[in-house]
Amino acid sequence: MDYYEHVVDLVGNTPLVKLNSLTEGLEPLVLAKVEYLNPGGSVKDRIALRMVEAAEASGELRPGGTIVEPTSGNTGVGLAMVAQRKGYKCVFVCPDKVSEDKRNVLKAYGARVVVCPTAVPPEHPDSYYSVSDRLVREIDGAWKPNQYANPENALSHYHSTGPEIWRQTEGRITHFVAGVGTGGTISGTGRYLKEVSDGRVKVIGADPEGSVYSGGTGRPYLVEGVGEDFWPETYDRTIADEIIAISDAESFGITRRLALEEALLVGGSCGMAVAAALRLAKRCGPEDVIVVLLPDGGRGYLGKVFNDQWMASFGFLGPETSEATVGDVL
Ligand code: PMP
Repeated sequence: MDYYEHVVDLVGNTPLVKLNSLTEGLEPLVLAKVEYLNPGGSVKDRIALRMVEAAEASGELRPGGTIVEPTSGNTGVGLAMVAQRKGYKCVFVCPDKVSEDKRNVLKAYGARVVVCPTAVPPEHPDSYYSVSDRLVREIDGAWKPNQYANPENALSHYHSTGPEIWRQTEGRITHFVAGVGTGGTISGTGRYLKEVSDGRVKVIGADPEGSVYSGGTGRPYLVEGVGEDFWPETYDRTIADEIIAISDAESFGITRRLALEEALLVGGSCGMAVAAALRLAKRCGPEDVIVVLLPDGGRGYLGKVFNDQWMASFGFLGPETSEATVGDVL
């Protein structure tokens, strides 16, 4: 019989899929590493598994313990899934701006979600930073993974994402492109690919315009999961050869085209990374192989990137996507 013991055993080993339509007229082969095919739906399953297993090994997380992390997104799903498998409890702390749908996903996996007001300064006792710190202090057996400082974040990519890409491309990859959030993906995958290729593989970061990685001040942008207003410990500044800044409009435009033209329903940070990969591809030749990592799927963004009203309210909507009447279709 052919089966897995648990869905957690399906983390990693995601496929590479060629981009066909978006790359028309460009010379290099552009391959997307499709991370929404992880069982929790994102690249963060990889770090969740490794951070938990390392904490078990070091004794920081003991049987029956509680995982406490300020997260509302993909990392929470990964941690909740791994916790379910291993018998830990999970408490996630998130600001009240996080949508009810996202909170319900975490609750569906059995996690508890504590909601904090967005409109208070970080030092306020009700802020989500203060609340998560207090929960870690007060819950017996609590452990905080802290994806922004935990070395296992980048190490998970050094040991899984990097070797997978090298094997899947038979060592022919020339460029690796990824969006930068905590910096774990680019730091770990990039370091592996540079080491194994003796520095031949070039590593390119994609960053929302306004974020610190591309020289911004942290001014607001709408793409989720990438960009920062501070420099996380998990980001290794020696890895990226170049950082390309992409506007929200371009990120969301490409995100929609990935669904329309490549049947890849993915999140906004994927459109951002692909936008950077396409800019890079214009400067490359037919012998080049560009791998671009797509962190998550598009279902979590149906009310945003894939909602015409939302897109139009920011002036992002192009003419190619609009609702039709019966008359238009007949
Ligand atoms: N895209 C999305 C949707 C994410 O959730 C994240 C993680 N914050 C990233 C991209 C960036 O990955 P990393 O944190 O490894 O830099």
